[in-house]
Amino acid sequence: MEHQDQLKGRYVQINDNEWKPFPDALSEGGITWKLLNVSPEMGSWAAIFDCPKGSSFNAHIHIGPGEYFLTKGHMEVRGGHDEGGSTAIAPGYGYEPCNARHDHTHFLEDSEFYMTFLGPLNFIDEEGNTIALVTWEDAQGAWEAS
Ligand code: ZN
Repeated sequence: MEHQDQLKGRYVQINDNEWKPFPDALSEGGITWKLLNVSPEMGSWAAIFDCPKGSSFNAHIHIGPGEYFLTKGHMEVRGGHDEGGSTAIAPGYGYEPCNARHDHTHFLEDSEFYMTFLGPLNFIDEEGNTIALVTWEDAQGAWEAS
């Protein structure tokens, strides 16, 4: 049997990559991002997001779990603490399980966070219909196209 090719490890010097606009169809308010890695063997992807005060992500469901590290600012997840969600204040860590529905994720200050996504993000309309299913391949495509 042939020796199996092993995927190579990766190191990213974050400041060497420029911020790119995160797709307008998926967010509002000028969010930019840096895609750090995709992992075909895990179906996961990792990115850092820069989110100006007042920006937000459009409604989505995490098909698989995700973990984030808010390095700067103030992020309200699932409406924030007062609506039963999470209010993250840097430095803050959060775990979002399979099928976590994020109708409203918004930023009350200029913020920055790192997140890993296991599996795709399902962006939805108000009735819960899929608008865009963003897999690691789509994330890579959006990054390379911008
Ligand atoms: Zn989310």
